[in-house]
Amino acid sequence: MEDISGKSPLPKERKVKGRVEIDIQKCKGCELCTTACKENALSLSDTINIKGYRYIIANNDACTGCVNCALVCPDAVITVYRTHPKKKPVDITPTDIKEQLQSMIGPSK
Ligand code: SF4
Ligand code: SF4
Repeated sequence: MEDISGKSPLPKERKVKGRVEIDIQKCKGCELCTTACKENALSLSDTINIKGYRYIIANNDACTGCVNCALVCPDAVITVYRTHPKKKPVDITPTDIKEQLQSMIGPSK
């Protein structure tokens, strides 16, 4: 499906996704991180923190986990986590699930 600009509204699928956590009370809004982020995943807040600075908000849907923002932050207030959405999920279903269900519902007629 396409929007009116002709671009797909769906974000491109990535092998590695990132998740950014920002200690907003320590951020001074210098915006070095927003400049360093090639994905435009970071932006300034409309409100201020306890120091009186606008702080950084992350759009984790756009984050690739490149860590640029954390490297340039002079106050080291950014932590980046990486996730692998395509990693094979682990099967946690008990092997005797059929027997367990059978014992719950009783013998079939
Ligand atoms: S890890 Fe990379 S993509 Fe994610 S917010 Fe930081 S600079 Fe942007
Ligand atoms: S570089 Fe660090 S201190 Fe500066 S705006 Fe980004 S998170 Fe805040």
